[in-house]
Amino acid sequence: MTVPPALTDVLDRIARAAKACGRAPQDVTLVAVSKMQPWERIEPVLAAGQAVFGENRVQETMERWTPHRERIELRLIGPLQSNKAKEAVAFFDVIESLDREKLARALADEAQRQGRSPRLYVQVNTGEEPQKAGVAPAEADAFIAACKKTYGLTVEGLMCIPPAAEPPGPHFALLAKIAARNGLSRLSMGMSDDFETAIRFGATSVRVGSALFGAR
Ligand SMILES: *Cc1c(COP(=O)(O)O)cnc(C)c1O
Repeated sequence: MTVPPALTDVLDRIARAAKACGRAPQDVTLVAVSKMQPWERIEPVLAAGQAVFGENRVQETMERWTPHRERIELRLIGPLQSNKAKEAVAFFDVIESLDREKLARALADEAQRQGRSPRLYVQVNTGEEPQKAGVAPAEADAFIAACKKTYGLTVEGLMCIPPAAEPPGPHFALLAKIAARNGLSRLSMGMSDDFETAIRFGATSVRVGSALFGAR
């Protein structure tokens, strides 16, 4: 079996970036973002042992991954409508786009009903971009508290997508600061163009798509 060169390259870069700031490479999880990619590109990465995949649509994910479900961890990294909470809770291991009370309530209800709960990340809109999902930084503390107290949800960490046109470092630093003051140790940040920077700022998982699978 041949390991795809792009997978080797990304794993090497993660390891180097981690070591360069005194972190252990295994403390950074590679989330392979397979959304909108043809199966021919995904299959070799799966066959090489990559076990964590990120998708942004519930329906597409279920169609594609149902036959391989037991072997992998699946993370929802795209926006989630409350009316899809049932499927999302049933199918995903991790939901990284929790960003409003209506969704928190829907996830809590489904978790109760199904007796299973995905691990949850609160998405923070660090750049306060109107078109982007996520809670505003100033509202993050109250929202995280509400998830716990009002809805009984366990929040594992925070996720952000910095504005495309800005240096990402300050956004990663802001997310790390919000996590620290809320006692959260997991940070989902960094994509193909900036995952090494994200690791320097404490990312515990990086979401890499095009650098692994090619342009979408
Ligand atoms: C598509 C996507 C990614 C992967 O982006 P690349 O630039 O292809 O690495 C990461 N995170 C989220 C939330 C995405 O939607």
